[in-house]
Amino acid sequence: MELRFYNSMTRQLEPFTALEPGKVGMYTCGPTVYNFAHIGNFRAYLFEDFLKRTLEFAGYEVKQVMNLTDVDDKTIRGSQAAGKPLKEYTKPYIEAFFADLKVLNVEPAAVYPAATDHIAEMQKLIAALFEKGIAYKSEDGSVYFSVERFPGYGKLAHLDRSALRSGVRIAADEYEKEGVGDFALWKGWDEKDGDVVWDAPWGRGRPGWHLECSAMSMKYLGESFDLHTGGIDNLFPHHENEIAQAEAVTGKPFVHTWMHCAHLRVNGQKMSKSLGNFFTLRDLLEKGYTGREIRYVLLNAQYRQPLNFTFEALAAARTALARIDGCVEALQARVKSGAADNGERVPSHLEAFGAALADDLNAPEAFAALFTLVREANGALNGTLSAAGAQAVLDELARMDKVLGFIFFGAAKAEAEIPAEIAALAEARAQARAAKNWAESDRLRDELAAKGWSVRDSKAGQELKPLAK
Ligand code: AMP
Ligand code: ZN
Repeated sequence: MELRFYNSMTRQLEPFTALEPGKVGMYTCGPTVYNFAHIGNFRAYLFEDFLKRTLEFAGYEVKQVMNLTDVDDKTIRGSQAAGKPLKEYTKPYIEAFFADLKVLNVEPAAVYPAATDHIAEMQKLIAALFEKGIAYKSEDGSVYFSVERFPGYGKLAHLDRSALRSGVRIAADEYEKEGVGDFALWKGWDEKDGDVVWDAPWGRGRPGWHLECSAMSMKYLGESFDLHTGGIDNLFPHHENEIAQAEAVTGKPFVHTWMHCAHLRVNGQKMSKSLGNFFTLRDLLEKGYTGREIRYVLLNAQYRQPLNFTFEALAAARTALARIDGCVEALQARVKSGAADNGERVPSHLEAFGAALADDLNAPEAFAALFTLVREANGALNGTLSAAGAQAVLDELARMDKVLGFIFFGAAKAEAEIPAEIAALAEARAQARAAKNWAESDRLRDELAAKGWSVRDSKAGQELKPLAK
């Protein structure tokens, strides 16, 4: 299976080759943990999950590293406003992030390094950049990277080097507004930072934001590695600066393939904290949508195409998933029926599915292969499909689900695990609610709780979950 990906560095679709056969090192810019991530952020993390699962589907062993930015302007200001030490302030947001990834069925990365645990690695890079004459110290005690002194600067963003404003300094973290100039590697301590400070040979302070990703990616993946990903807004200056910091020190190519996903939008604008047009995952769960539905919606577009977020898309996901669940249940019933093998098989769509993935992660085409399989399986189930024939389809769905991660997720799986007695009580409760018999419905809720099950009412009906022991 030959994969072709669009490399942001060469601006071309390229056959993907791993530096070491069979293995892929992949670095993903992770969240700034000063708040809950919004579903725009999760579009990026789900694209990366889809990419990683596709590589695994193609037989690669993937080592993914995702950083946690737990020191920058936003985390420091947040901790001060909350009157808490930085680590104490970021901890619940880190936990919330991991919980959200689980809700969306994202496969965990191999390592989640936090910036504050890698100050020594970052300082080593700065020391090396001083040695090379590329870093310099400014009057306010900060350390800057001179873009003029590194000839490779601008190669990812394809900058015209005549546009570089050498000596124009861009303060730490304030990257988006100011454009191309020298960027901060180290921010000299100032009062606003309070007790967030580390000693360094060039003076007390804290690292600039870009530095952590160069330091931590090379620590866990080596000086040259295969894949680096993020949202398109990361391309410049963050990723450009990462390349500069790494390559100026090592003299080796930092990353082979750069991949960036387009934004999740709302009414044509990027979903972002600053515009206030965002939903966190929690907002949507409270409205009764499920992680499975949100996963489906966020994956259902090619990653380089902007995706407009709508509630209609969530409703369509619910319908599509119900169709999949209906087919899976019917297939499982046919398997249980033990109907003798008559040799009949539903044609396989795994090859079309793989070809879609290999074509720069063409998710809509891959979804289409899945739905063709579902349609044909339903047709065969209406006819004479045997238990073995049904099992073969289930096996193929399981293969597809290794990448999609929403077929056997949630409802279908949970239902299979709900004992008949509990399901009967839940059904009686649903009927009581339909008859507006609230006393009976409450009594049944208590009875379910006594048997170890919680029940939640959502638009989709009741959701049953085992109570935590
Ligand atoms: P941040 O916490 O802003 O650094 O963003 C974390 C990740 O989410 C980065 O890879 C961003 O590029 C990505 N991101 C932020 N907003 C969006 C959006 N609306 N759509 C897709 N990705 C986004
Ligand atoms: Zn990064």
